[in-house]
Amino acid sequence: ELTVLRLGHRPGRDERMSTHVGLTARALGADRVVFAGKAEGPKETVTDITDRFGGPFEVEVSESYRPLMEEFDGRVVHLTMYGLPVQEVEEEIRSAHRSGPLLVVVGAEKVPFDVYEAADHNVAVTNQPHSEVASLAVFLDRLHEGRELDREWVDADRHVVPKERGKRVEGTDER
Ligand code: SAM
Repeated sequence: ELTVLRLGHRPGRDERMSTHVGLTARALGADRVVFAGKAEGPKETVTDITDRFGGPFEVEVSESYRPLMEEFDGRVVHLTMYGLPVQEVEEEIRSAHRSGPLLVVVGAEKVPFDVYEAADHNVAVTNQPHSEVASLAVFLDRLHEGRELDREWVDADRHVVPKERGKRVEGTDER
């Protein structure tokens, strides 16, 4: 099982970023996203996309990140520009994840120091500053070695028919 934890959602300011963390987690092979903070808007949007385009994918909101991080029964990976290069640690994380759950934590504005300490791995996708959405996407793709791109979706009421040009969406029962 793979959970993504998005820290420090600030209502108003972080609506789009938190939503994009959730959508990216879903699209690229996580099983669940937890938004720490009052993230009812992002929860609603990601749940709505899952209802329409399929799952399984769980969306939760939690007041605090600490219980989840501290009591998590598996490896905890915190994505941060200050961590060790992903290319050096991905194999160890991948093999741990073969036999147990993984929690992938991304921050928002300022990440409290206890997060660096509670994590089993502080992992950098380059040591340059960029974004929680970008780092999550690269990390998940590395972790799954690209296999998440071929995932099948369950209980979708629609799906996109890939086209070289134009847009085509079909109801799932039209297949
Ligand atoms: N300045 C904040 C700090 O030092 O705590 C981080 C702000 S950054 C806009 C938001 C999040 O993007 C970070 O918490 C981290 O999860 C992710 N992030 C940004 N650059 C990253 C990188 N090079 N590698 C991994 N994660 C990164």
